[in-house]
Amino acid sequence: MTTYTELLRDPRWQRKRLEVMERDNFSCVECGGADRTLNVHHLYYAKGRKPWEYETGSLQTLCEPCHRRITALGAEVHQTIGMLCAADQALVLGYARALMWLDGRWDGDSLPCGTREELVGVFHAFGLETACRSGAGLLLEIAENIQPTSVLSPAVLDRLVATGQAQLTTLTSAEPGRP
Ligand SMILES: [Zn+2]
Repeated sequence: MTTYTELLRDPRWQRKRLEVMERDNFSCVECGGADRTLNVHHLYYAKGRKPWEYETGSLQTLCEPCHRRITALGAEVHQTIGMLCAADQALVLGYARALMWLDGRWDGDSLPCGTREELVGVFHAFGLETACRSGAGLLLEIAENIQPTSVLSPAVLDRLVATGQAQLTTLTSAEPGRP
């Protein structure tokens, strides 16, 4: 039985690790620090997969303090989400995917949205929860047509972003005490 520490000595991991560090200019992607020991962090783990069998996009260079902090935060998130009911887990899933899409870190062409809860999660990420409850046209249309295994295409997502921005502008300008 090969231990994880032994796997990290494998030349295939050493090569992958160097590739990621070069991409990140040998600095921590969180704090920008380059004067501390650097680690290459896995954003997720899949059961049975070797450390080097991950897409480069899911690996990032972190300094040791940031690596410790992010690993602890990830464990806490994992544990907390695990205690939610299935409907709330679906909401968090939709929220997380939409955040990745907004950041430009979502690889797929469209956002899978299997349930209404996932869609509500997407709305939350766009700041559209209020608009969704008040039945704004496009959102109502999407919510009514959502079917299991639906996908939100880039065009629909672009419209969601535009609607979200308009909604936020309205909310901000309506805020009392603002010029
Ligand atoms: Zn750092």
